[in-house]
Amino acid sequence: MLKLIIFGPPSAGKGTQAQRLSEKYGIPQIATGDLLREAVAEKTPLGMEIKSYLDSGRLGPDDLIVRLIFDRVSESDCADGYILDGFPRTMGQAKELDRKTEIDLVLNIVVDMEELVVRAVGRRICSECAAVYNVSFSPPKAVGLCDKCGAPLIQRDDDREDTVRNRLKVYAEQTAPLIEHFRRKGNIVDIDGSAGIEGVFSQMAEAIDRLDKRFARAISPNCRRP
Ligand code: AMP
Repeated sequence: MLKLIIFGPPSAGKGTQAQRLSEKYGIPQIATGDLLREAVAEKTPLGMEIKSYLDSGRLGPDDLIVRLIFDRVSESDCADGYILDGFPRTMGQAKELDRKTEIDLVLNIVVDMEELVVRAVGRRICSECAAVYNVSFSPPKAVGLCDKCGAPLIQRDDDREDTVRNRLKVYAEQTAPLIEHFRRKGNIVDIDGSAGIEGVFSQMAEAIDRLDKRFARAISPNCRRP
């Protein structure tokens, strides 16, 4: 069993790293933002309720988000663990998580805020498979098209500059205080987010590898490090 949180401000690279860790360790990435965007696209009751929050960059209500996450982690593919990407984001969510489970490691990506604006505004997402690109740092081979499946790339509405700045403000006010909470629990490690995609990934893998050896025994064979 391996339960991770990828923590950090919007556009710090949480999604990119979570995708790669998911492949390496064989546990699913659970991205709150992706689950919410799917609900909006499918016009489910949850999607209708949450749309205005997503469009403005405000955080959705804790009870709704907590329910969404715990429904998801109770699915069978999470039996060996999971990677939470974008949850928890408020003290209420963190406390609810503590009540329900024990997280092994919080990987806290530390990045300069202005750098994040540049990253977010350049971000493009595949409209089909949700692969992530950046027009400045990791462009697709063909402009506007996904390398993996060929579908058109799109810019998320909440990656516009005004919304990005608002999301950073929300992060500073409501989410960053959780770092102290994790430090008190002693399960957080800081990751230098300026090290490039590979550099960030290897810092994270090293931090996971440093975890108590009991994880190596407890993780099922297909989740072990190669
Ligand atoms: P993300 O893709 O993780 O940047 O999330 C996009 C948007 O989804 C956020 O700006 C919020 O409106 C909403 N959201 C994602 N995760 C959470 C969360 N844990 N709590 C509340 N709202 C969230």
